[in-house]
Amino acid sequence: MNEPENDHQGCDLRTRCGFYCDFAQRKSAVWQSMIRNYCEGTNFSLCARRIFFTRTGNCAPVDMTPIGTLPKELFDDLLRQD
Ligand code: SF4
Repeated sequence: MNEPENDHQGCDLRTRCGFYCDFAQRKSAVWQSMIRNYCEGTNFSLCARRIFFTRTGNCAPVDMTPIGTLPKELFDDLLRQD
């Protein structure tokens, strides 16, 4: 599958991405850092979710973040943060 187009203003998959839709409004520095660096920044081409989508054509698993799949305990802990 070809790499999706982007507008150089971050990832063009934002409106279709569950991670972005769920976490863009959270206040946690962890989530904000990922959103800023990947979804709205220049590192979107390195995003694990984006790579998964371009390789498989399917949405990434819910526990996959831009930096990859986190251990369940860490992911569950981070999920509780705003
Ligand atoms: S998580 Fe990845 S695929 Fe989703 S919007 Fe951010 S950069 Fe794009």
